[in-house]
Amino acid sequence: MFYSNIKISMDNCIFCKIIKGEIPSKKIYEDEDVLAFYDAAPQSPIHFLVIPKRHIKNIMELELSDQNLAGNLLVRAQKLSIELGCGEKGARFVINCKEYGGQTVDHLHVHVLGGRSFGWPPG
Ligand code: 5GP
Ligand code: ZN
Repeated sequence: MFYSNIKISMDNCIFCKIIKGEIPSKKIYEDEDVLAFYDAAPQSPIHFLVIPKRHIKNIMELELSDQNLAGNLLVRAQKLSIELGCGEKGARFVINCKEYGGQTVDHLHVHVLGGRSFGWPPG
């Protein structure tokens, strides 16, 4: 039951389809656990997403046993942001979660937004 629910979510997940190559994307980086690709609707001159290859719905679903993966996502987001030119002026690193967090794709992702400044607090 549990397994089949996970499978149904993965089969309908846009980001799982990107991982499998069933939907095209502009890939930036890939390893065994992590994929980074440009956002299809960029909100800044540099806007990419870093995702786990395993289907994890959102940050609330992370377990302590996922510490390495969570660290990989964050450090990879940082490394790629520097490679893409955000090192000097910085960037906005965002993880939206569920309804109140404004999450629209139910597969955990870190947004990296650079190339312009952002205000605080968010609207
Ligand atoms: P969320 O609102 O869930 O935090 O962010 C989801 C992000 O995924 C949005 O910024 C949206 O533009 C991006 N996105 C949705 N569908 C696709 C797609 O098929 N390809 C790519 N590259 N990005 C997508
Ligand atoms: Zn997925």
